[in-house]
Amino acid sequence: MLIRDKLFIDGRWSAPSSTQAIEVHNAGTGEVMGRIPAAAEKDVDAAVSAARRALPGWSQTAPERRAELLENVSAGLKARADELARTIAQEVGMPLKMAGRIQAGLPIANFANYARVLKEFSFEQKVGNSLVVREPVGVVGAITPWNYPLHQIALKVAPALAAGCTVVLKPSEVAPFNAFLLAEVMDAAGLPAGVFNLVTGHGVPAGEALVKHPGVDMISFTGSTRAGKRISELAAQSVKRVALELGGKSASVILDDADLAAAVKGTVNGCYLNSGQTCTALTRMLVPESLYPEAARLAAESAKAFTVGDPLAEATKLGPLTSQAQLERVRSYIKKGIEEGAELLAGGPDAPEGTPKGGYYVKPTVFGKVRNDMTIAQEEIFGPVLSIIPYKDEEDAVRIANDTIYGLAGAVWSKDDARAQRVARRIRAGQVDVNGGAFNMNAPFGGFKQSGHGREAGVYGLEEFLEYKSLQLKG
Ligand code: NAD
Repeated sequence: MLIRDKLFIDGRWSAPSSTQAIEVHNAGTGEVMGRIPAAAEKDVDAAVSAARRALPGWSQTAPERRAELLENVSAGLKARADELARTIAQEVGMPLKMAGRIQAGLPIANFANYARVLKEFSFEQKVGNSLVVREPVGVVGAITPWNYPLHQIALKVAPALAAGCTVVLKPSEVAPFNAFLLAEVMDAAGLPAGVFNLVTGHGVPAGEALVKHPGVDMISFTGSTRAGKRISELAAQSVKRVALELGGKSASVILDDADLAAAVKGTVNGCYLNSGQTCTALTRMLVPESLYPEAARLAAESAKAFTVGDPLAEATKLGPLTSQAQLERVRSYIKKGIEEGAELLAGGPDAPEGTPKGGYYVKPTVFGKVRNDMTIAQEEIFGPVLSIIPYKDEEDAVRIANDTIYGLAGAVWSKDDARAQRVARRIRAGQVDVNGGAFNMNAPFGGFKQSGHGREAGVYGLEEFLEYKSLQLKG
């Protein structure tokens, strides 16, 4: 049992103002795996005050020194990579080997990458008679989700610290133990007191207290569109800067000249990664009407090849969902798809056989003949549920791909690269994979439309945490 009963504030582990705790469940077994403090407004206030006190010193610290400390954090995480992967595999449910590569590997890489980005970044530029300088925004409140918990944290905390901002982190209460490991690493890395603070708790009151706090200059949020809207409303009261990374309903457009087998396999993998709990999941597969029967057969075959099971077991390809709430939500969407008349090609709402009792397991599911106005094609399910939508021609495919409130990601497949790129440019989304192009940690990441605004990763992510200032010079 993992028991955490302290918050990391002002460089010290201190007891929260109340003894209220939140239980955290093991996704693979459903059992309680530990407890964390449920912080109240008073705790958030203490953390923000510490961050404000630390700001003048940290913002004036030489970028080279800040880069050195970020490298220390990366090395500290690397030394604990196995522990991180195991913790996250249990909190979230991602199979262990993959969790090592993605859930632990990406944050290690991102902290090191921001040290590099910082060293290469120019903080001032001469424009006519002005000197344009970049300054940190100030105190940043970072609020993060559970699906890639430490990755989402790293994408905020690393660039914010690089920029010279100080941070109060409010991680997801569903998968919080990785954030405690990070705080220990921060502590050991030599960061000055108050530069990084950790408060755990529910969205209300802890998250909202951070958003409303007058001592916070910016909120960087990743999570649901629902919470993003609420945060925008609250932050508007004090005209805070807000960056939002929200949900998605991304289309994978398979053109008529694509390598169909590779495109279907790539789409199914892109949909089922982390049991479909990925904001960029390719949940709508658009195929030409003439290729529909073959695409449907290939997708069902691919789905059935995913071994569902214990995230710690070697053979598992698809772990459980993260929580009981997720399990109920995903099953109800699968039932809705059947009710609305989509064709169930694989999976279904019943629990998969042979999985550990009590865990949040769901069958990898494929729906065929989905219309884009069906609920399963419009709403973010956040589970391993693929919808295949037949289209008439290229124009129709682009129209369907864009017929969504979201605009986070997408994919296009064609033997003709120029054609694939042409279609990719017409998709209103922040990131479009062309013929299975690989993830790039230095490319901007973020959404159009209700998928949010602002960009993370690489230099684009650093700039989110900087203000411009113009010094008008005489002569
Ligand atoms: P969520 O919105 O329920 O919670 C996210 C975080 O916000 C948690 O820390 C939560 O405690 C906090 N929170 C909730 N309500 C709040 C409020 N009123 N004020 C302040 N804080 C509040 O989301 P989740 O269920 O943890 O994560 C899943 C969602 O995140 C999905 O919609 C997914 O698409 C999205 N997501 C987006 C990206 C991206 O980069 N675009 C990445 C990962 C996840």
